[in-house]
Amino acid sequence: MKKILFIIIDGLGDRPIKELGDLTPLQAARTPNLDNLASISQCGLMTALGPGKYPTSDEAQLAILGYNPLTEYPGRGPIEGLGIDVKLLSSDVALRVDFGTVSDNLTIIDRRAGRIDSVGELAKAVSGLKIKGIKFLVYPSLSHRAVLVLRGKGLSSRIGDSDPHKVGVKVRGVVATDNSEEAAKTAKALEEYLLKSHEILKKHPLNLERIKNRLLPANFLLERGAGKYFRASDFKEKFGLSAACIAGAPLYRGIGRFLGMDIIMVPGANGLVTSNLRGKFEKATGLLRFGEKRFFGRKNYDFVYLHIKATDNLGEDGNFSAKKDFIEKIDEAFVGINFLKDFVIVVTADHSTPCELKDHSEDPVPIMIYDGLNHDYVGSFDEKSCAEGTFKNLGGRDIMDMVMIKAK
Ligand code: ZN
Repeated sequence: MKKILFIIIDGLGDRPIKELGDLTPLQAARTPNLDNLASISQCGLMTALGPGKYPTSDEAQLAILGYNPLTEYPGRGPIEGLGIDVKLLSSDVALRVDFGTVSDNLTIIDRRAGRIDSVGELAKAVSGLKIKGIKFLVYPSLSHRAVLVLRGKGLSSRIGDSDPHKVGVKVRGVVATDNSEEAAKTAKALEEYLLKSHEILKKHPLNLERIKNRLLPANFLLERGAGKYFRASDFKEKFGLSAACIAGAPLYRGIGRFLGMDIIMVPGANGLVTSNLRGKFEKATGLLRFGEKRFFGRKNYDFVYLHIKATDNLGEDGNFSAKKDFIEKIDEAFVGINFLKDFVIVVTADHSTPCELKDHSEDPVPIMIYDGLNHDYVGSFDEKSCAEGTFKNLGGRDIMDMVMIKAK
């Protein structure tokens, strides 16, 4: 059985950009290593969740890793919570929250509070409040992100998002999305909490200082993705592969943990443009080749899920030249194929994040699968070249079956 290196570059796909000579950032970037791998791989296009479904990163990656996001997805909140190692109870409701900036009448000015670096102190100030017997716990994650856990009896995750996903409009009220008493109670208490925490955040010294320094205050918790935690079927049992996850951004470590993979931390892997990409690739190949040293002996790995995040953020910022530069950094860090010859290697994206949209899109993304045997005549890893390859319109959930056959 061959070992499998499975690389997902978040939001990699894009659309042609005038300033880049009508090329996508991936086309415009100089990527000799990825192109070299494409020339000895089978290539194609893939849509993780199929057409007509807005691709969230977590649902798309579950599909790509062989799971059904309709039945094996607990919601964004629990996955984010697992990613930052929050111990969740099955009775908890967990939500993803973004510290955003709102005006006095709760109109959204910025959904990420000017991409604030850290919200640790602010999270502390609004964590532990109790409303109607429900405890509200806030756990800070990367930059503006956090996880909100509602702990108490009789809670429901059937509640809507307060985040309208756009600026210039008012924050949404929290509504129950079914007729149960539990959902009504949860929605009401959560709304009360959000308003109470807004009052606290508004007056918080760190926010007053941000305003003084002409920075946007992080004064509102925009919530989404309510869910209750459950255990997914274990990746090892499902595929018979001992698996590790290497990811800088917490959400993706949450996906790995949800699937029962070992989370392997790499110093300097931070999910940002400055991430230690070389360290991640070296760690991944090291794990597959030699395993990981443990207190007693070594643990061997058959499968490494390696996630790279910043391409998606740069697409959401509409920063096409930085996206192109970052893709070049990925290529430079990508250890040469000479080290990887006896592996099956998958390189793809979970979805496109076109700079012109500053949002995810349903556009298909390039994929290449190297197995040391089969290749087509695609010589470049990009959206256009891969369209000429072997795989036409792959769905996310087709990939693992194919990879398992190739690895045999
Ligand atoms: Zn994504």
